[in-house]
Formats: sequence, structure tokens, C-alpha cells
Amino acid sequence: MEKKQFQAESKRLLEMMINSIYTQKEIFLRELISNSSDAIDKLYYRALTDDAISFEQDQYAIHITADKEKRTLTLIDTGIGMTKEELENNLGTIAKSGSLAFKKTNEIKDGHDIIGQFGVGFYSAFMVADMVTVNSKSVDADTAYKWQSDGSDGYTIEETVKDTPGTEITLHIKENTEDESFDEFLEDYRLKAIVKKYSDFIRFPIKMDVSTF
Ligand code: ADP
Ligand code: MG
Repeated sequence: MEKKQFQAESKRLLEMMINSIYTQKEIFLRELISNSSDAIDKLYYRALTDDAISFEQDQYAIHITADKEKRTLTLIDTGIGMTKEELENNLGTIAKSGSLAFKKTNEIKDGHDIIGQFGVGFYSAFMVADMVTVNSKSVDADTAYKWQSDGSDGYTIEETVKDTPGTEITLHIKENTEDESFDEFLEDYRLKAIVKKYSDFIRFPIKMDVSTF
């Protein structure tokens, strides 16, 4: 008897995930913040075993900036960053979790802080964005890479310039339609309320422009 693997139509799968896993669009922010928090935690775990990496808790933060004119929402973290291969594996493969893999290889047991496990949260960004750009530089690499996708068919990766390790994610927020409004995701007060609602427990400071939580 022959055993076969299930096939997946990735474009349809992505579409389904983006549109049916989450009931509320606003949770994309929780997902991106949790990824940034995980990235900072990974740096912390690396520092425990790697003398080349030092970790001062107060140097790490997650920054969120909205630009209404450009319709962009940007999240910047000072976490572990991603290599080109990690961008391809973790953001280019649906249901692949680099964070789950990290917990396994580092034998981090339950009760620790790394949140990620299912490898789908990132794609929730496409509920509110028609283009997602990820600039990332890994602590283990000299070159930074830019990953970009409109969430429909595939992504591009190219070299870019980024001085410090970490990840910068820019969402180009969708235009309003007759029955859906996206403008709210560019409003400071609304973003603050979403952060408060879902991300209050995050251990690292979440900073928005001038205001601090
Ligand atoms: P999960 O968080 O459940 O693993 P996601 O779809 O949210 O799944 O993210 C997929 C993977 O992409 C993460 O596991 C992580 O390896 C990588 N990733 C996402 N965002 C970041 C980030 N800001 N910094 C570093 N790695 C990230
Ligand atoms: Mg996640």
C-alpha cells in the first residue's frame, strides 16, 4: 500500500485563513505584537548561552507608528531578526512556526514566554493590508532582507539595508470600501485601545510615537 501526502492549494489556503480564522480584523495587531515579543524573548534565550549576545531588558521595545497620508502602519522590534532562509521558511510557509521550532531546539518548556506555535498569526495582517513589507536583519547575519507580499500569490525577497538587528513590518492599510472601513487602523486612539485590549500582558514596552503604554 502506498501512503500519500495531502496536497494543499496554497493560494486558496491563504485566502481561507485570512478570511475565516479570525472573526475580528483588529486582532492582526495582537498577532504582530506577539511575534515581536517572541523575537525579543528569543534574543534573551540566546543571550543565556551565547557570550557574544548581551541582553539588557530595558533596551528592548516594540514601536508602532501610523502614517495616515501614506496609509501605513509600522511595527519595529529590536528582537532576534530573521535570516533570508528564516524569512522564506517562516513567512513563506503557511502553518510553519519558527517559534515552535525554537522552543523545541532550545528545550524551552511550557510556562515560558514565547507565544507562537501555529504559524498562521502573521498572515492575519492581510485582513487589513493590501501589501506587507518585512525588513529584517538577523543577529546571526550581516545582510538584511526585505520580504514583500500582497497576500494573493507569493512573495518577493531581496537584499536591503538595515543597520541594527530586528524586524520592521510595514502594512499598507486597505482603502475603505462601501461596507468595510479600514481607516480606524491608522488612528492613534483606536490602535491604543486594541493594544490595551489584547496586549496588556506583553512584558516589553509597546511605544507609539510619543505616547508610551
Ligand atoms: P507563530 O507566531 O504561531 O509561530 P506566525 O505566523 O505569527 O506564527 O509567525 C511565523 C513565524 O515567523 C514565527 O514563528 C517566527 O519564526 C517568524 N516571525 C514572525 N514575526 C517575526 C518577528 N517580528 N521577528 C522574528 N521572527 C518573526
Ligand atoms: Mg505569531
